[in-house]
Amino acid sequence: MSKHHSALGLANALRPVQPVTLTRPHAAQRAARFFVEKFPGKSLYAVKANPSPALIALLWDSGITHFDVASLTEVRLVRENAPEATLCFMHPVKAEEAIREAYFEHGVRVFSLDTAEELEKIVRATEGATDLTLCVRIRVSSDHSKLSLASKFGADPADMKQLLIETRQVADALGICFHVGSQAMTPSAYTEAMERVRAAIVGSGVTVDVVDVGGGFPSVYPGMEPPAMTAYFDAIQRAYEDLPVSYSSELWCEPGRALCAEYSSLIVRVEKRRGAELYINDGAYGALFDAAHVGWRFPVALLRTEESETKDMPFSFYGPTCDDMDHMAGPFLLPADVQPGDYIEIGMLGAYGCAMRTGFNGFTNGATYDVSDEPMASLYLDETDDQLSSNVVKL
Ligand SMILES: *Cc1c(COP(=O)(O)O)cnc(C)c1O
Repeated sequence: MSKHHSALGLANALRPVQPVTLTRPHAAQRAARFFVEKFPGKSLYAVKANPSPALIALLWDSGITHFDVASLTEVRLVRENAPEATLCFMHPVKAEEAIREAYFEHGVRVFSLDTAEELEKIVRATEGATDLTLCVRIRVSSDHSKLSLASKFGADPADMKQLLIETRQVADALGICFHVGSQAMTPSAYTEAMERVRAAIVGSGVTVDVVDVGGGFPSVYPGMEPPAMTAYFDAIQRAYEDLPVSYSSELWCEPGRALCAEYSSLIVRVEKRRGAELYINDGAYGALFDAAHVGWRFPVALLRTEESETKDMPFSFYGPTCDDMDHMAGPFLLPADVQPGDYIEIGMLGAYGCAMRTGFNGFTNGATYDVSDEPMASLYLDETDDQLSSNVVKL
């Protein structure tokens, strides 16, 4: 992997034909340090947001010691790139074979569940192990989040009493976990979920050793500027301190997006222009899945040495495949004189962007390069600056 300073410098030097992924190790390191130093508990990195081996190693080096994995492939991946990490298998529906291999071959001791059947499966697969930390996932609202995670997983609050009592009998340490949905736009998402946790603890009378508030911590995108991350941490800490949990209990979180959104961006080339539509060389089947399928907006910048003198106007993008659905509505604001041959940087694609690329229709990505310039926006720049929003640049 060669080193370049900036997106513009790289586009000028290489004139790449394929889309190029840019990685910014310093940005991921800054996010990790922020969580390690300021979250009032332990931070598990949710690997699915971006499973890049380099990122996993870098987060480990930056103090992230625990990883939230959901498949055996993720278990093996983290074992290879951060061998001493603690792995937490937080998918509530696992194959019995996967639990067995995770427990016996990879040293996994933390599992989540949301039914009595899954609990039985874990007991069978681990042959009645007595050293398990078992986290019961409770269903909470996704009302404050941009992407819901409320339908698929999580025990109904009414079933929590029975499930907590049964799990307590098997677990060495008992946890309760939840996920408020991805890109939670207000800290109340967590305080409301903590109320359900409180009710479940009070209702069952069990001793709880771990409260895991899951992921959902936001990043910053056009039209989605969340409050400061510390406002989330403060709200979670206050709610946690109010819970009737054991004296030695632990608070955990599972950030995916918030740790890696700033890590990657993409350089694409404009191959054709039709009015306000730009045909670019990456799209829905590449790193722009969310831009196409959930209408997510990402920041963009035209990479030209001489800045355009025309005003910005809204564009939509077509990706390179022959599929009509390979379309990103945006709007993406770019100078009105954009033309074929121009390069565009699309920012904030480190989470659920680069991770979701396919090779459909023969379009794959080109090279990956480390750069040292700043990401297009950051939630982790100097917080003492009164004008935090002034750090959230170029959106
Ligand atoms: C996806 C996921 C996460 C990460 O969510 P973000 O919104 O990216 O922070 C954390 N925990 C679990 C169980 C998940 O499925």
